[in-house]
Amino acid sequence: MIVVAATQNRHKILEISEITGKLGLEVIPRAAAGIPDFEIEEDGETFEENSLKKAMSIMHACGRAAVADDSGLEADALSGAPGVYSARFAGVSGDGADAENNKKLLRLLAEIPDEARTGRFVSVVTLAFPDGRTLVARGTCEGRIGRRPAGNGGFGYDPLFTPLGYEKTFAQLPAEVKNRISHRAKALAALAEMLAAQPFTAGG
Ligand code: IMP
Repeated sequence: MIVVAATQNRHKILEISEITGKLGLEVIPRAAAGIPDFEIEEDGETFEENSLKKAMSIMHACGRAAVADDSGLEADALSGAPGVYSARFAGVSGDGADAENNKKLLRLLAEIPDEARTGRFVSVVTLAFPDGRTLVARGTCEGRIGRRPAGNGGFGYDPLFTPLGYEKTFAQLPAEVKNRISHRAKALAALAEMLAAQPFTAGG
C-alpha cells in the first residue's frame, strides 16, 4: 500500500520510510502526491489530536491514504515538557531549532540530578483513509536525558537522549538500532499490525 506522508521533516520521512519498508507500506512525500506546500497548524493539546489533524488534512488534500506522526520528548522532571511543544520549544523554527531546543532543555534540567533525568520519546502515528476511517497507534521509548549533546546522527533531541538499556545516545547509535527500538518504530509496527487485521484501500 502506498501512503502519503504528512510530515515535511526530511529526517522523519527517512525514518518512517526505513521502518515502513519492512512493514509493507510505501511512504511517499507530499510533493510526490501533488500537494502544494502548506503549513498545518499543530494547535492540539495531545499528540493524538495533532497527529489526527495532520493525517486528515493531507488525506483530504489528495484523496489518498495519508500517514502522520506527531511526536516529542517528555522529561519527567519538567512534568512532561516539552511534550507536544517539542518542535518549537525554544520558539525558533527552521534550521537552528534543534540546537536551541536542546540548549533550553539542558538549561531547565541543569539542577536536576542524574537519577531524576528520566523521560521518554512519544510518537502517535495516524493513518487516515479516503473513506474516513482512521487507525491510530502510540509508541514510546523510555530513556535518560544527558547533560551535554553527544553524537551527530538522528535529529531533534537525539544527542541528549540515551534509550534505556543502552550507553549511547540516539545520535551515537546506528540508525538501524534507533529504527528498531524507537517510539516511531513501535508506533508504526503497531499500526502495521492493525492494518494487517482489516482490509483497507489507499485510494488515489
Ligand atoms: P512534530 O511531531 O512535527 O510536532 O515535531 C516533533 C519534534 O519532537 C521534533 O521536531 C523533535 O524536536 C522532537 N522529536 C520527535 N521525534 C524525535 C526523535 O526521534 N528524535 C529526536 N527528536 C524527536
